[in-house]
Amino acid sequence: MPDKHFHTKKHDVWLPYRFSAGPVFERFFEGLKAGKILGNRCPRCERVLVPARTFCPRCYVDMGQWVEVSQEGRLVTWTMSTEPFFGMRTDLPYVAGLIHLDGTNCNFMHLLGGFETMDIEAVRERLKGSVRVRAVWREEREGDMLDIKYFEAAD
Ligand SMILES: [Zn+2]
Repeated sequence: MPDKHFHTKKHDVWLPYRFSAGPVFERFFEGLKAGKILGNRCPRCERVLVPARTFCPRCYVDMGQWVEVSQEGRLVTWTMSTEPFFGMRTDLPYVAGLIHLDGTNCNFMHLLGGFETMDIEAVRERLKGSVRVRAVWREEREGDMLDIKYFEAAD
């Protein structure tokens, strides 16, 4: 039951801001501009994480060696969204996936495309079972996550 003594008022907050990417993400984004997906290796647990990180979230030590990782991997899971979100830069509906890039030790989230993405049943049929995917790049790249247009089915 709502409390009669409190009232709520609707108010939309607009809070544009800029943040420094920092040296690690700077290098990661420069990699994308050059058509490379860069990760880095934890010197303690030796996991390769992508995108590259400043520190290993498991060991809490600075990440070490930079690695250019594979542009292909296995689709772990996916979702289709028909709802817009704040700051969205893609058309609706879109399909996003968690991708285990070969040679890495984590999942990389990105858009999926290159097939029928408007119909959920068609998407479900296309992405059924074990699916290999590979990165499809934009012609004009500017050092941005969307320099990779999407991941398409590789089989
Ligand atoms: Zn580690």
